[in-house]
Amino acid sequence: MTTTFSPRLSEQVQRLRPSSTIAVTSRALEMQRAGIDVLSMAAGEPDFDTPAHVVRAAKAAIDAGKTRYTQVQGIPELREAIAAKLKRENGLHYTPDQVTVGNGGKQSLFNAFFALLDPGDEVLIPAPYWVSYPEMVRFAGGVPVAVQTDAATGYALDVEALRAAITPRTKLIVLNSPGNPTGAVFPEATLRAVADLAQQHGLLIVTDEMYEHIVYDRQHVSIARFAPEHTLTVNGASKAYAMTGWRIGYAAGPLPLIKAMNAIQGQSTSNASSVSQWAAAAAIADSREFIEMARGQFQQRRDRIVAGLNAIGLSTPTPDGAFYVLADTTRIHESELEATRIILDEAKVAVVPGTDFLAPGRVRLSYATSLETIDAVLGRLRSL
Ligand code: GLU
Repeated sequence: MTTTFSPRLSEQVQRLRPSSTIAVTSRALEMQRAGIDVLSMAAGEPDFDTPAHVVRAAKAAIDAGKTRYTQVQGIPELREAIAAKLKRENGLHYTPDQVTVGNGGKQSLFNAFFALLDPGDEVLIPAPYWVSYPEMVRFAGGVPVAVQTDAATGYALDVEALRAAITPRTKLIVLNSPGNPTGAVFPEATLRAVADLAQQHGLLIVTDEMYEHIVYDRQHVSIARFAPEHTLTVNGASKAYAMTGWRIGYAAGPLPLIKAMNAIQGQSTSNASSVSQWAAAAAIADSREFIEMARGQFQQRRDRIVAGLNAIGLSTPTPDGAFYVLADTTRIHESELEATRIILDEAKVAVVPGTDFLAPGRVRLSYATSLETIDAVLGRLRSL
């Protein structure tokens, strides 16, 4: 059947840029399915299996018939486990009512931006930044304002630059430490200064702490300790417990904001998967051993890839956390988009161009892969 009809998409969605991390990951999967030997350093996804005690908890939940709708904001057992974790590990004091569980950190962030932003509200985001922050902000009607950081300083946040970017329309500051894609971990002094800034100017900090456990040379500190009323803390199960596919994220913060986020979720996806919630409760309650194992492996991988890339002229600062490097690819091509294409077509390695992270001349490699894969990738890149 032929037709000339095409649905008229909303102006808002026509402005939405698809996620480049997801786009490259999907392309690599397609090539692998077509039998092409592609090594993917694209998706930020731990390669470990979900810990056995978490899988057991999920199976037990299914067997016990815990397969129905739950409270929109999440089962009390999970929210209690999250509140206890935030106290134990982060020194934060939230009641379970101040916690809301979403379908991945992405939905928690999405809910937050829709609950907070009016048209024209400005959101300061240190850059290079994760591709989804500015898109979510724009989709919610806000205006993302990048505050650039430099490779030369290891992407340290300049609080004076942040202060200089504040206008009467500024409403939020987004922080992501340890950072994707920079790997930067902001020291306590920086976090205290940002907390002061938020208090002085009546701003809210949305802090995405998804990579908190993956730190090497610095300790992770939660900024909510310094300005609890001015902070929404977002986190999730994906990276800490190798649970990307289970889709569990959460946020904790001021009660009126949490209630507004619950109202949005109640009109969109309702609750996160019931089975995943029971699994996440087990993960969050006790995964010390797994977290330490993963951190040790990630550190070895970081050391291997940073040394390897710097040795072949694809220079990168040494990240203090997360599992990404931003390699300078200007020796392959001055355009990172072209470099990404050459790396994929000629070396059969999938990486994400720095473009949408605001990291021109660089590509992001996720080293959440085995040491063997890292060695093979370095071998392929060396020949370019
Ligand atoms: N956050 C991960 C990444 O940056 C997973 C993909 C995504 O959600 O962007 O690769």
